Amino acid sequence: MKSLVLIAILGCLSLHAEAEITIHFLGTGGPEITKDRQGVATLIEVPGNKFLFDAGRGVLQRMGESRINLPAVKNVFFTHLHSDHIEGLPSLWMTSWFITKRNAPMHFWGPPGTQKMIDGLHAFMSHDVVARVNPVVKPSGIRTMVTEVTKGIVFKDDKTRITAIPAEHGDGNPALGYLFEHQGRSILLTGDSTYTPTFGKMVKKVDITICNVYAPSLALLENLDEFDEPIPTVVRAVSKKLASPEQAAQLFIETGAKIGVFTHNIFYDSTPEDIKERVRKAGFRGRVHIATDREYVILAREISVHQPEPVPDDLEINSLNFKDVLKNN
Ligand SMILES: [Zn+2]
Repeated sequence: MKSLVLIAILGCLSLHAEAEITIHFLGTGGPEITKDRQGVATLIEVPGNKFLFDAGRGVLQRMGESRINLPAVKNVFFTHLHSDHIEGLPSLWMTSWFITKRNAPMHFWGPPGTQKMIDGLHAFMSHDVVARVNPVVKPSGIRTMVTEVTKGIVFKDDKTRITAIPAEHGDGNPALGYLFEHQGRSILLTGDSTYTPTFGKMVKKVDITICNVYAPSLALLENLDEFDEPIPTVVRAVSKKLASPEQAAQLFIETGAKIGVFTHNIFYDSTPEDIKERVRKAGFRGRVHIATDREYVILAREISVHQPEPVPDDLEINSLNFKDVLKNN
């Protein structure tokens, strides 16, 4: 009996010694309206802390469906200020405050312009910021801190370091990617970016590179002039600011990724298999995964991809039950 207990304790110790990081792909779409993909939002959880990267449409809904501990989401990093990366923020900031009684301020990091955007958020919600305060919904939870960043280390504690890297996103510039490092493991989020050598110069070896993809088929691209406007103009313009499968492959290779994961997926006339095939043909030999909403990836001894847990038909997270329904981590 004693030896069984010892084995159990040793088992626990070895698990704790291994860095464990969970990446929740809450929303995996771009601005397009699709059946299954909400706007882009990626949450990285480590023991004792959570870091949200972008807050696209539906982020609060997806967090609720995945039982994320909403009041614990206080650190948000924006890759850039295009609408599809920020339009979920009003509900995340406001609703998680008064429903879950979040009483700590949220801290936002992002490129120049982020302070102005957050000032606008306060103006947009100026009625509720005052009206919803009561003895349990405290003003402290609606306060905000903003740090505008351009490049270099933007967050550091004794286990986690986050570095901003300039991305190339055309009319979305200034745009950033973020390198997330935690106890020897690393994740690069390119944000919205076409190919730029900057990522490969700054990052030589990561566990996972998470990249956007814009995937009109090669047949469509080769025959663009045969299509009526606005198709040729739109496709050429967007191709200059997002990554094709071939450009993503180059980013995966240059950043030394073990796994390349796609989010902010814009398929057009391609299938996920078409995209993977183009990445392989472009020379990336690692594993390629195309994320779907609420999937999550665990980085422990191994890297594993997990399907979302089902959402009950009667899901309702409210002011009375949130402590029972949300995960307590
Ligand atoms: Zn976008």
